[in-house]
Amino acid sequence: MVPGARLIVLGKQGAGKGTQCVRLSHRYVIPHISTGDMLRAEVKSRTPLGLEARRYLDAGDLIPDAIVLAMVAARLDRDDTRTRGFVLDGFPRTVAQADSLDELLKPVEIDLVLDLVVPTSMVLERLLSRRVCEDCGAIYSTSAPPKLNWTCDICGGEVLQREDDTEEAIRNRLELYDSSTAPLVARYAALGKLVEVPGAGNPDEVTKELFAVIDAYQHGGEFFPPTLPSKERPAVSGGPAVSGGPVASGGPFDTVERT
Ligand code: ADP
Repeated sequence: MVPGARLIVLGKQGAGKGTQCVRLSHRYVIPHISTGDMLRAEVKSRTPLGLEARRYLDAGDLIPDAIVLAMVAARLDRDDTRTRGFVLDGFPRTVAQADSLDELLKPVEIDLVLDLVVPTSMVLERLLSRRVCEDCGAIYSTSAPPKLNWTCDICGGEVLQREDDTEEAIRNRLELYDSSTAPLVARYAALGKLVEVPGAGNPDEVTKELFAVIDAYQHGGEFFPPTLPSKERPAVSGGPAVSGGPVASGGPFDTVERT
């Protein structure tokens, strides 16, 4: 039986977060929450949020916190995340977002933060050759394309270069990572939640290492505290925090059979 987990995956653009998060999501039966994917879906559907977000995405700039936080708060409030947990990809990206996430989750906490460590020279190369299915987000590269004519092997969608995978936007995103997101590594290390995993090797080896770290944590005998019904959650910001009662009452996450 697989217990749930609350995971964050950190790592520079091109470190392999997307690929690894999909695998973590399947193994631990937890939703993969990628703020980048959610924002691109909004842009594609031309929602008001998407129209607002587009200029930031194209330039490789960060979307204002209020927009991202509202989107994440709504997603974390759904039943699947409350009963199973989640793997967060691309969020939090700033210390302010991490602080808001803590508030949002109270009284429960993140279990583990996995930092995929890859040298910048390697991520630059990966990003420039990266190609992505515009429908399901599957990731390919110019050296490992889909089998047929840039048509996604998984869903048949068109496989393209992301609009923000231009050299200029990539440089901007990597600079923003160093200035805004890298400080999260120290933050979570200080909380004893950070594990660094080398991400430069073969993707299957990286996956094996991630599974080993999480399995060891899960078998360490620590039960994850139960999640609370949404009405008992504290407000995201402003307003008094609603008391959720004792954390230790109730059971751990739902368990499911691993297939
Ligand atoms: P990458 O990590 O390669 O930049 P993502 O898909 O994670 O790709 O994000 C793409 C873009 O979406 C970012 O450049 C940014 O504009 C926006 N974005 C995603 N997550 C966040 C976030 N947590 N806060 C602000 N902007 C975000």
